[in-house]
Amino acid sequence: MPRSKEGFLWTPTQETEGLQTDAVQQGSRSIEDHYDVIVIGAGFAGLIAARDLTQKHGLRVLLVDARDRIGGRTWTAKVLGEEIEMGGTWVHWNQPHLYAELHRYGLHRNLKTSAELVPADKYVTVLESVAQRFFSIDGLDSRSLMPYPHDPLRQPSPWQAYDHLSVKDRLNQLHDIPQWEKELFESNINTFGSAPGKDIGFVEALRWFTLGGHSMAGVFELAGIFKLGKGGMTSFARAVWSEFTGDSLFNTPISGIRQGTAGVEVKTSHGQTLRAKLAVSTIPLNCLNDVQFSPPLSPLRQAAIAEGHINSGAKIHFKLRETLPGWFWTSNGYNGSDFVFAFSDHNGNQPSGPSGTWCIGFGYNGCLTDEKDSRSILKAFNQDINPHHTVEAYATHYWINDPYAKGVWACWGPKSTSKYLKALQESHGRIVFASADWAAGWRGFVDGAIERGQVAVQDIMQLLKNDLSDASAKL
Ligand SMILES: Cc1cc2nc3c(=O)[nH]c(=O)nc-3n(C[C@H](O)[C@H](O)[C@H](O)COP(=O)(O)OP(=O)(O)OC[C@H]3O[C@@H](n4cnc5c(N)ncnc54)[C@H](O)[C@@H]3O)c2cc1C
Repeated sequence: MPRSKEGFLWTPTQETEGLQTDAVQQGSRSIEDHYDVIVIGAGFAGLIAARDLTQKHGLRVLLVDARDRIGGRTWTAKVLGEEIEMGGTWVHWNQPHLYAELHRYGLHRNLKTSAELVPADKYVTVLESVAQRFFSIDGLDSRSLMPYPHDPLRQPSPWQAYDHLSVKDRLNQLHDIPQWEKELFESNINTFGSAPGKDIGFVEALRWFTLGGHSMAGVFELAGIFKLGKGGMTSFARAVWSEFTGDSLFNTPISGIRQGTAGVEVKTSHGQTLRAKLAVSTIPLNCLNDVQFSPPLSPLRQAAIAEGHINSGAKIHFKLRETLPGWFWTSNGYNGSDFVFAFSDHNGNQPSGPSGTWCIGFGYNGCLTDEKDSRSILKAFNQDINPHHTVEAYATHYWINDPYAKGVWACWGPKSTSKYLKALQESHGRIVFASADWAAGWRGFVDGAIERGQVAVQDIMQLLKNDLSDASAKL
């Protein structure tokens, strides 16, 4: 199996930089002088757009990525004989864009569950009762506040009135709920953005809740139980990739995009200029500031980029020596814990039977910022999560230090949805922007990446029908 430059494994005797994965790709031997479309980014938004622009519409497409692999913020590494997901993992049949794609490749038959992701029943009862109060304001319940969670801009006025609130602000308005219930509720909402409730927008939490079928148990089921078995998310990315028939370049960061009446010129940081009629950028929100656009992006889009999304948490897989039954743990973010939540994912699989426990810790924003600082990471694990068991290894991809992600799954703070969602989804002349980071429905999820990849294809086909010189002349 090939080895990516990405990923890190710690054991007491060795540190390994770069992990094995089937996501690594070589790219094309030679490329053309000019394409119909250049797609930047081979995460799910880019893979879907590139596949459909070539396979369905017969266009000449160049797919470019800064990494040595496909999948973007999802990839499956082989570590100590186990397959582990370094980024996006959990999927569900109620994520419509994603499930249609799993079905297309027969991968829905490869779904399995993580060991124990749902908090104990007695806590779920408390969470549901706080949630019903929390998500009902001024006589409007969650159904009235966000009637179309997959298309929130269709009827924005009810939720927009409360978009200035943070999760903490809203909790502070509820005076007759016991403090421990509020803290339990907040610690679970914090998992949406690896952040304390003061940083997470009320409307962002409302969106998760409505997508989860207006229940906390629904949110947990949709966002964190089912995942792909053998081959993992990389097998999914490879399935989409296998149908792409254009050219590709890996290890090729883009530093600028210039557009004029003749088309787009995409500059690589190696000094190469790539040319096409149109471009699809799937560069994540928190990285767009590193790319120079000429003419410049709209002031509103620039403001959204400057603010970014708030989720810069960590995801660390721990291998424990002991073989344990499933467990789930959260912390409210105000007690000094470096971790926001953690749970056991599965027991190790050895020919002799289950061996040890693989569990995952998710760090709070800005905590545990150095993946190689094993002393701090092990100390935090033992202090915050589990003092009784022995960590034999940990593996991680530090997305916060990754120049092509600068964060994990997107989560927005107060006011951002009203201010920026529409602007981020718009085209900029000949450039179409597609990312899970500004999806309409499952924003911050693989489903959202696929949604935006599909919309990008529609936008490109529309632009091609129009007079293209008009597209950039309007800027
Ligand atoms: C730790 C973690 C856990 C997650 N858990 C889940 C989960 O359980 N379920 C779920 O559905 N989602 C989850 N997500 C979110 C999900 O993985 C992402 O929302 C989704 O994969 C993003 O897809 P995308 O195509 O929009 O962006 P990306 O996957 O980020 O793809 C963008 C691509 O653009 C490339 N790029 C960036 N800048 C440049 C540049 N300058 N030049 C060239 N290329 C560039 C990047 O290398 C990348 O490959 C998780 C994410 C993380 C990080």
